[in-house]
Amino acid sequence: MKLKLDLHIHTKYSHDGFMEVSEVVRRAKEAGLSGIAVTDHDTCDAVPRALRLGKKEKLLVVPGIEVKSKHGDIIGLGITSVVERGMSAKDTVSVIHELGGVAVAAHPYSLVFHPTGVRGEVKTAGFDAIEVFNSRTYFSNGMAFRAARDEGIPMVASSDAHLAGEIGNSCTVVDCRCDVGSVLDEIRAGRTEVVCGLTGLGSIMGWYWQRLGRVFR
Ligand SMILES: [Zn+2]
Repeated sequence: MKLKLDLHIHTKYSHDGFMEVSEVVRRAKEAGLSGIAVTDHDTCDAVPRALRLGKKEKLLVVPGIEVKSKHGDIIGLGITSVVERGMSAKDTVSVIHELGGVAVAAHPYSLVFHPTGVRGEVKTAGFDAIEVFNSRTYFSNGMAFRAARDEGIPMVASSDAHLAGEIGNSCTVVDCRCDVGSVLDEIRAGRTEVVCGLTGLGSIMGWYWQRLGRVFR
C-alpha cells in the first residue's frame, strides 16, 4: 500500500519544540498522513507515548531521533535509544546502523534557519538516505537533491515540523506494508517518492517568537 510519511517531526521534548505528542498525532491524521517519525533533538523521550497513541489512532509511528554530530544533524529512524551526540558523522551513522536504524542526513546544506547540516560529509559518512527537501530550508534543498542524485543515495523529504501547522508540508511516499521494518527497507532500497512543499515564513517567525517567550519566561 502507498504510505505518506513525514519522517522528521519535533515534539515538546526537543529543546526548541512545543507540540504535545497527542497534538502531533492528531495533526498528522488531519493532514492525511499514514505515518510519522518523531525525531527530537538528542532524546527519544517522546517515542513510547507516540507509539502508544499511534497504535490507538491507527497512525504508523517510526521511532527516531535527531542527533547532533560533530559535523551536523543526523536523523536515526527505527531506533529507540539515544545516540551520543558530538561524534563524527561517520561514527554516528555506524552507531545508528548497529542499533538497526536508518541514518538520514538532515537538511545537509542548510544555511539560514539551522546551519547545522553535515555538508561535505553527506557523500562519505555512509548515509542510507539524504533529506533532499526540508520544508524549513529555503535555499539549499537543490544542493541536497544533487548530492543524492549524483551519489545514488536514496531520497526522503520531510517537514522538520516544530509547530502543528507544519506537519505534512513535505512527505516521503513508499509502497509497502504498513510497518516500521518494511518502511525502513523501502528507504534503504531507495524506493521512495518525495512530495515537497515549503513551510511559510510566518510559521517559522511565529516559532522564533515562541522560543523567545521561553527564554524570557
Ligand atoms: Zn529537525
